Formats: sequence, C-alpha cells, structure tokens
Amino acid sequence: MKKILIISLIFLCNLFALEINQSTVKNANTVLLDIKKKNISDVKLTFHKQNINFFKNPFKENTYYALLPISYYQQKKDYRVIVSYIENGKKIFEGKNLKVIDGNYKSEVINVPKTKFKPNPARVKRTKEEYAQAMKVYNSVSKDILWNEDFIYPLNTKITSDFGTKRVYNGELKSYHSGTDFRAKIGTPILASNSGIVKISQDRFYAGGSIVIDHGQGVYSCYYHLSKMNYKVGDFIKKGTILGLSGDTGRVTGPHLHFSFRIHGIQVDPLNAISLLNQLKRQ
Ligand SMILES: [Zn+2]
Repeated sequence: MKKILIISLIFLCNLFALEINQSTVKNANTVLLDIKKKNISDVKLTFHKQNINFFKNPFKENTYYALLPISYYQQKKDYRVIVSYIENGKKIFEGKNLKVIDGNYKSEVINVPKTKFKPNPARVKRTKEEYAQAMKVYNSVSKDILWNEDFIYPLNTKITSDFGTKRVYNGELKSYHSGTDFRAKIGTPILASNSGIVKISQDRFYAGGSIVIDHGQGVYSCYYHLSKMNYKVGDFIKKGTILGLSGDTGRVTGPHLHFSFRIHGIQVDPLNAISLLNQLKRQ
C-alpha cells in the first residue's frame, strides 16, 4: 500500500513537471515543451524518429525547453512524445499525447513547358552541392542561445505567398512553398529577425542571394532572393540590423523576400516558429 502511494506521488509530481503547449499540431508547425524542475540533467525527447535535446531556458529559473518541429510530410495521426531525464541518479520517463493534423494548406497549379525540366548536369551538380552544404548547416546545433529579445518579421509589407502552399507542377505534387513571401521591390532593406551568427551568405541557384542566420540551439532563419548581402559567414548579426537588400535573384518570377525557418533541420512555418520562440520569455 505504502509503495503504491509513493509511486503515485512520484507519478503526480512528474505529471506537473512536463508541459506541452498544445495537444494537436498542424504539419510543418512547431511544438514547445517545458519542464520546470530542479537538479535534473540529460533532458531529451523522442518523437517518431526524432531525438531532441532540451536546453535550459535562459529566461526562466529551473526550466528546460525543447522545440519539436513537425515535418510537412509527417503522417497525420496520434503520436506519443516521450521525455526522459536523470533525477537523483535515476532515469525518469514521461509521455504526452500529440496529434498531428492537416494544416489544410492551399494548392497552386503551375504549368511549365516540359523542356524547362530537362536535366542540365552542371546545374544538377551545383544544386546538389548547395543542398548538402545547407543541410549540414541546418543539422548542426549550437549549444548557446544567441538572442535575448523577441523575433521580428524581416520587413512589414503584404504577404504575397503563404507558407505551405502545395505546388502542383503539370498535374503532379512536386513540392510545397517552404517559406513566407513578403512583397519587396528590388533594394528594400531586409532586417535580421533576431541576433545570431551568419552561416550562409552566397548566391545559390534556387534561392539566389541568400543569408542564413544561426540563432543557436537548432534555430535558423533564412532570407532569399537578395540583391545585396551585407554580412559574411561567421559574422555576428544583431537583431533588427539590415542584413541585405531584397531582389529577384535565383529562381523567381519577380522581386520579393522569401523568409523561411529551420528548426533541428526541419523546415517549419516561420511565422508560427516566431510566435512560439517569443513565448519562451513569457510562459
Ligand atoms: Zn517563397
């Protein structure tokens, strides 16, 4: 009897330690998890095939947080998020239910002449290399958080294309819109959404003039089709400074800013990511 009571007490204590900000999540959105507990270590979670470490929330005492990015292509169903940590030399497990639901993203049909898809070996090689280089950046996790103020939009103009729109080329679902497009005529100043270290600053085939900022702890913001880049790889950039000028470089139909986010290597809705990250200081 006594044993049962102790076990249920431990269970109750743990029940209040782990918080998840939502029990359902749209594909390509992010979930925020919090654990408020003293003297624990090695806090991590497992979701589907992902293993993600928690970090100390620098804005709150004895609190750890994790950002769980959900892939656009994640199957829509019920999942269990398993969190573990070490407390008094013992490994403790806690679980939470999480249902992935359809983001109901719009569809857009694009009819391109077949000849445009003719493979060009030099281009294939270039885009493959650029992709591999970018993924290497996105999959590396800097230990420290590099910002301490809220994330902002890189400019305040009309959104001309939402994140997530399905792209149907010649009747086939080929891809989805991986960022949010802001109206920006060539030469419009683009601001760093938050502080961090520049990890990509170069002209790329699809993205054109690109800047990618590492904000630490697995979070990256990306700014594409720029006509000018003011920072180079390794530079520290402060929130709100002009990282470059908008343009129409890369594979585009007209000038605009394509703004996107990667969290732990996964492409997520940037505006949803910003609102979640800005909760870190508030909860
Ligand atoms: Zn775009």
